[in-house]
Amino acid sequence: MTTQTYQHYVNGQWVPSATNETFEVLNPFNGQVVSKVARGKSAEVDKAVQAARKAFDQGPWPRMERTERSRIIRSIADKIEADKATFVRLLIEESGATARKADMEVDLAVRQLRHYAELAKMELKETLQDAIPGGSQNVAVREPVGVCAQIIPWNFPLLMIVWKIGPALATGNTIVLKPAEETPTTALRVAELVAETDLPAGVFNVVTGYGEESGAPLAQHTLVDKVAFTGSTEVGKIIMQLAANDMKRVTLECGGKSANIVLNDADLEQAVDGSLFAIFFHNGQVCTAGSRLFVQDGVYDRFMEKFLERAKAIRVGDPKMNDTAIGPLVSKKQQERVLNYIEIGKKEGANCVLGGGKPTDAALEAGCFVVPTVFTNVTNQMTIAREEIFGPVVAVIRFNTLEEAVSQANDSPYGLAAGIWSQNEAQAMLVASQLRSGTVWINDFHIYSENAPFGGFKQSGLGRELGVESLKAYTEVKHIHKDTLGSRDKKGWYDLVVSSSTPVA
Ligand code: ADP
Repeated sequence: MTTQTYQHYVNGQWVPSATNETFEVLNPFNGQVVSKVARGKSAEVDKAVQAARKAFDQGPWPRMERTERSRIIRSIADKIEADKATFVRLLIEESGATARKADMEVDLAVRQLRHYAELAKMELKETLQDAIPGGSQNVAVREPVGVCAQIIPWNFPLLMIVWKIGPALATGNTIVLKPAEETPTTALRVAELVAETDLPAGVFNVVTGYGEESGAPLAQHTLVDKVAFTGSTEVGKIIMQLAANDMKRVTLECGGKSANIVLNDADLEQAVDGSLFAIFFHNGQVCTAGSRLFVQDGVYDRFMEKFLERAKAIRVGDPKMNDTAIGPLVSKKQQERVLNYIEIGKKEGANCVLGGGKPTDAALEAGCFVVPTVFTNVTNQMTIAREEIFGPVVAVIRFNTLEEAVSQANDSPYGLAAGIWSQNEAQAMLVASQLRSGTVWINDFHIYSENAPFGGFKQSGLGRELGVESLKAYTEVKHIHKDTLGSRDKKGWYDLVVSSSTPVA
């Protein structure tokens, strides 16, 4: 099979880079080339932004009937669903997702995009109370922000597209999407499908390339109104700075170091399985990964015995196979980064009680693998408890009192998500109220509901995605005040300037 080469998708057309440069997307399981894509820089970013600007300022999309916008968004969801097999294949090949994770991701993406198609019908308008009864009519209406730059990561290549384009399209914005350099093919396939729908040209554009070369010029382009970013906290801070010059709207969904807290009264079976899922789902390459596992004294030994026994049984292997639970990490770079953190953990005195390196199986040698790794005897001050590793590495911290657990859980620069395992509902709710994070799951983990706001406290981000909150994040609110008295009746304010005896001309 010949490798497919992709260009940028701009104004409904496929366009090459001005320099004609491309780069290769590699399969992290076997190092084979998945696709070749155009290496975008400022020139292509500018073309795409100009197209999105024109589509916003002059095109029909922002002014279209809401029901019509809804229909077009639904047609994109339908096309993705019909092409599920291609997306599953691409997610496996370019991101190393397991077949089951890829399957789940496509289903969730389709369901959530359909949800946005429904939300698109909502009129976001609020009637406000009059300050002087009977004196005026007041409404707050929401209008699209404009041209939205959307910069996304590689861990959920399709779902992240939906979280970005769903609310932006539902509220009438236009888009320039910059997928991660590791996983651009998924976005380009979405563009191929969008091209077959009635979405007007210029509303959805895709520029591919490296972060500094294409993401940075996009985030600072003066014709962009809003930047929405998902990725590392480090780059999130750069994005904020790039956007600051024009005071662009910014939403950031960045790193995490989620505390997963197991209390003495937890249902042990459920807590063990849930905690394994919390850290090892998609190899720990999830911003909400339960990478700090706090276990209370009274249950510690029994919990750890089961946890380690089941962690050992997790099947690491070829992501294409249905019985594989953990595939390769996304890239060699990510593999090295994770292995480096494991070495730091060992050096700082944590006990590596499971894993701690690459698999020994020769069949997996070419892949970017790291086996499930468990550290005990960790303190919350160690590097492996403070920094986001984004790999299958869990730091287990033993605690005695709830106060101790809460204060350590909160002692982190991050605040994205947290989990609590307890059969005492009142106690779990109390702990939930004390945790400084955007999401708290009780007896569950990694549930991203299209109805619930998602985002971080502290350095985990700014603003919220999903739910009605996400629509607000893609709109400007405008207050319209209409007088109902007539200017001559407005005693007080106008008199500051115009004497009441001034004759009316
Ligand atoms: P990760 O560490 O998960 O790879 P990054 O934060 O590096 O995440 O990347 C997330 C997205 O941000 C990618 O699309 C990447 O190309 C982009 N990116 C990286 N660096 C920059 C930058 N300096 N300016 C704009 N975008 C960037």
